Amino acid sequence: MGSRKTFVLIVGGGPAGLTMSLLLSQLRVAHILVDRRPDTSNHPRGRLYDICTLELFRQFGIQEAIEETGGGPRWTRFNRWFENLSRPEIAHMHTSSFYSVPTAKSPTMPVMSSQDYVEAIMLRRVHRFGVADIRFHTEAGNILQESQGCRITLQDLRTHKRMEVVADYIVAADGVNSSIRTQIDLPLGGDPIDVHMQDVLFNADLSEWFAGNEGGVVLVAHEMGSGAFQPIDGKTRYRAQIANFPREKQITDDFCIAWIKSALGSTKDINIQIQSVRPWQFIAGMAKEFRKDRVFLVGDAAHAFIPTGGLGSNAGFQGARNLAWKLAYVLKGASPDSLLDTYFEEHSALAQTRIDESLKISRLTGALLSAHFGGRDTANEKAALKSWGNYDGLILGFEHRSSLCVPEDTPPPAMDDPIRDFIPTIRSGRRAPHIWLDDERTLSTLDWFNTDYVAILGRDVKEAAWSQAVADLSARGFPIRIECLPDAEVAPYTQDEIVLVRPDGIIAAHWPSAAEDAVGLLKTCLPLSR
Ligand SMILES: Cc1cc2nc3c(=O)[nH]c(=O)nc-3n(C[C@H](O)[C@H](O)[C@H](O)COP(=O)(O)OP(=O)(O)OC[C@H]3O[C@@H](n4cnc5c(N)ncnc54)[C@H](O)[C@@H]3O)c2cc1C
Repeated sequence: MGSRKTFVLIVGGGPAGLTMSLLLSQLRVAHILVDRRPDTSNHPRGRLYDICTLELFRQFGIQEAIEETGGGPRWTRFNRWFENLSRPEIAHMHTSSFYSVPTAKSPTMPVMSSQDYVEAIMLRRVHRFGVADIRFHTEAGNILQESQGCRITLQDLRTHKRMEVVADYIVAADGVNSSIRTQIDLPLGGDPIDVHMQDVLFNADLSEWFAGNEGGVVLVAHEMGSGAFQPIDGKTRYRAQIANFPREKQITDDFCIAWIKSALGSTKDINIQIQSVRPWQFIAGMAKEFRKDRVFLVGDAAHAFIPTGGLGSNAGFQGARNLAWKLAYVLKGASPDSLLDTYFEEHSALAQTRIDESLKISRLTGALLSAHFGGRDTANEKAALKSWGNYDGLILGFEHRSSLCVPEDTPPPAMDDPIRDFIPTIRSGRRAPHIWLDDERTLSTLDWFNTDYVAILGRDVKEAAWSQAVADLSARGFPIRIECLPDAEVAPYTQDEIVLVRPDGIIAAHWPSAAEDAVGLLKTCLPLSR
C-alpha cells in the first residue's frame, strides 16, 4: 500500500469540500480532495445561494459564471401558495434575501441556481488554481490520529487499490451522514423529525402554468397530497418535492407524473421527463464540537438544516471560509494551534442561529395551507411567513464573538427585527461592509479580503506608524497589509478610523485615527504565533 504526505486532506467534494479546496488553493496550501462519487453532483439539492455565498464566488472569480446559471429576478421575488396552479393563488410572500437584483449591500446578488451547475463551475476553478490533488472515485476509510499527523486510508473504487495518506489536518466535508464524524465520535445531535420527502428532478415546459406564477418555492396542496415546485433554471428544469412519502413506499415515474399534473391542475398530455428521484428526511442538528485534534467538520457534516429556508449549504460555505485561513496560518507557522479552536467558537453560534431559523420556517410553511383548508382567516399565518427568505440581518449582520474580535463597548444599531433587518456598520465581529472603490464599480472593498489581514486606513490616519507596524509583522511572516480608503464617499467607513479586517472579511477591530500605538493595538487581536 502506497503512502503520501499532505498538509490537508478534504473528504467530500460537495459544496463545502469544494469551497475548502478553493480557499486553500487561494492560500497556496497543497491538499488532496477525495470523493467517492465518479464526479460532481448529478441530482442537485441546494438552489438558493445567498449574497455572502456569491461574495465568496466573486473572490474565486466565478461570480459571473454562477450568475449566468441563475433563474433571475422573475423567479426569485416571491414564494407562492396554491391548491394547484390552475386555481387562484392563495398567497405570495416577498423573499428579499434571495431576490436576484443588484443592491448597495454587496457587489454581488443572490442567485437561484442549482447545486450540479455550481459544483461543476467550482471544480473547474479548483483545477485552474492547480494547487489541489483531486480524486473522485476515491473513498476515505479509517483514520488514525497521531501526534505528528493523521493517517487515513483511501481506496480507489475502480481499481480497489488502497493508499495511505498522512495529513497534518483532515477536513470532513462528507455530508450529513459523515462517517468521519462517526469515527471521531461527534454525533450530529438534534431530534429526528418525522417528515419524509421524495425529491423529483424533471424536465417539462410548464410555461402555461407558471407564467405570472413564478416563485422560488411554489407550494401546493392538491388531491394527491402536498408538496412544492422548485424551479431550477427558470426554463424547463424543475424539482417537485412530494411530501409525506417515505423511502420505504415505492414511487414510480408514473406516480410522479400524475402528481405533477395534479399539482398543475391539468389533465392535459404534458411531456414530463423524470430525470431522477431521491428520498430525503428533515434533519436539523449540530455536532457539539467541530474539531477532534487534527480532524475538523465542515458543511452538513458539522450542522444540518431544514432546507426550506435555503440556509444549508450557504452556512457550509461560511464555515469553510471561517476555517480555511486559520488552517493556512497555523500550517505556515504564522499563528498558534489555538487559532483553530475559534472556528467552533465563532461558526457554531452562526450555525445555531440558522438552525433555529430553519426550524421556525419549516413550522410556518404548512401552517398557511392548513388555515386555508380549515376555512380560517389566514392573516396571522401570512404575517408570520414574512420572515421566510427575508433575513438579511441573519446573513449579513451576524456578529462573531471570540478572542479574534476586540469587544465593542457600544450596543449594535437598534433594529425592529435583527434577523430581518440589516444596517451596514463598522463593528468588530461583523462582515466588513462593501463600498465601491471606483466610479466604474468594478472594485469593491470586499475584493481586498482573501488571504491577508488588511488594515484599512482613512485619509486622516497618521499612516507612518501603521505602515511600519504592518511591514514589521509582514517581514516576520504574518500575512497582513495596508489598504487606503478613497477620497470619495466611504460611509459606513470613515476617514478618521483604522479598520482591521481578517482574511475572511470579518472586522477584527477598529480604532480612531488618533491611535498611534499601532504595534500594541494590533497585538491585542492578531493571532500571532510569538
Ligand atoms: C431538498 C433539498 C433542498 C436544499 N436546498 C438548499 C438551498 O436552496 N440552499 C442551501 O444553501 N442549501 C440547500 N440544501 C442543503 C444543501 O444541499 C446541503 O447543505 C449541502 O449539499 C451540503 O454540502 P456538503 O458539501 O456539506 O455535503 P454534501 O453535498 O452531502 O457532500 C458530501 C460529499 O462527501 C462525499 N463522501 C461522503 N463520504 C465519503 C467518504 N467516506 N469518502 C469520500 N467521499 C465521501 C459524498 O459523495 C458527497 O459528494 C438543500 C437540501 C435538500 C435535501
